[in-house]
Amino acid sequence: MNIYAIIILATLAIDFILDLVSNFLNLKSLSKQLPEEFEGVYDEDTYAKSQEYTKVRTRFGFITGIFDLILLLGFWFSGGFNWLDQIVRGWDFGELITGLIYIGILIVAKTVISLPFSIYSTFIIEERFDFNKTTPKTFALDLVKGLGLGVLIGGPILAGVLAFFMFTGELAWLYAWGAITAFSLIMQYVAPTWIMPLFNKFTPLEEGELKESIQNYADKVDFPLQEVFVIDGSKRSSKSNAFFTGFGKNKRIALYDTLIENHTDDELVSVLAHEIGHYKKKHILKGMVISVIQTGAMLFVLSVFLNAEGLFEAFYMENMSVYAGLIFFGMLYAPIDMILSVFMQMMSRKHEFEADDFAATTTEKPDDMIATLKKLSKDNLSNLTPHPFYVFLNYSHPPALERINALKKL
Ligand SMILES: [Zn+2]
Repeated sequence: MNIYAIIILATLAIDFILDLVSNFLNLKSLSKQLPEEFEGVYDEDTYAKSQEYTKVRTRFGFITGIFDLILLLGFWFSGGFNWLDQIVRGWDFGELITGLIYIGILIVAKTVISLPFSIYSTFIIEERFDFNKTTPKTFALDLVKGLGLGVLIGGPILAGVLAFFMFTGELAWLYAWGAITAFSLIMQYVAPTWIMPLFNKFTPLEEGELKESIQNYADKVDFPLQEVFVIDGSKRSSKSNAFFTGFGKNKRIALYDTLIENHTDDELVSVLAHEIGHYKKKHILKGMVISVIQTGAMLFVLSVFLNAEGLFEAFYMENMSVYAGLIFFGMLYAPIDMILSVFMQMMSRKHEFEADDFAATTTEKPDDMIATLKKLSKDNLSNLTPHPFYVFLNYSHPPALERINALKKL
């Protein structure tokens, strides 16, 4: 076993242990006592149900985590990566196509093997807590569309990256970086109009009081709002949400139909104000810039390790190749990725506070935002008392109670 294998194994072990410890603490921190702030919002049953949901989800996450780990280790130490490589190489398609097939097979195999888990998650767990609205047909269609898009969109970009690293020498990482950046900007631009509608129906919000309140608010904060869309989230789940996508002329704010159903007009304006806050405070731009920089750094490090024989020996490979190197590097890079993601989550939580602040200040109605947060927590059965360590590792949004307390201090 060489140094590469040791680093990757150590990372997998650390990741597993952190996950185990943080989940354990998180379950320990479930409090029987409903936080005072939420009195009148949750009844006893709902609160008990929300705790049960956290427990069931944690157990399920634990089981899938162990399964994935065993699967990876089993495939790795039985020489699976080389075995598959020898088979695909035998088909004699040339390096580039061989690479696409190799990675494609691994992705499809992982999707198929994980299928029972996602079926269980959707149709057993989410069903049990009355969230699931997905029909088997929608589920199957999502799967097919997802794989289709993977081939149509992921295929060309993967082919591009492989080709750069195969044929363009030392500056390959730079070309790949440029291509990926351009590609993801285009994707962000077209996703709201071309891709998301494949999965959900986007209907312009109908004329009426709500639209008027939203328009008035947008004018007040000088936000060029073209259209607000209602998205049929109820097709899959009763959980509710709102989001902002695209940029330039293609920006869209989408409110889930489930959100509109459960909230007053004022509360919905506060949700929208929060989303506009993300835009006004340039969070979306910051996120994009950071991810472009991260991608560049990662591709550069990739270019350094792609020729490291030890990395291929660690996986029992008879042949070195760019495509297999890409996969192994992904595992080698995991510790850096883990650390970066903790920082990204931290930044994201800070941004959430800022967007809340923006919404409360500009609507001059912090109470609407607070009411919204309470309702959303209840409707999504959020864990009201997550452990700080768990939050530190996993939460992109601060816990509701912290957000409410911050809003009250304004
Ligand atoms: Zn937000």
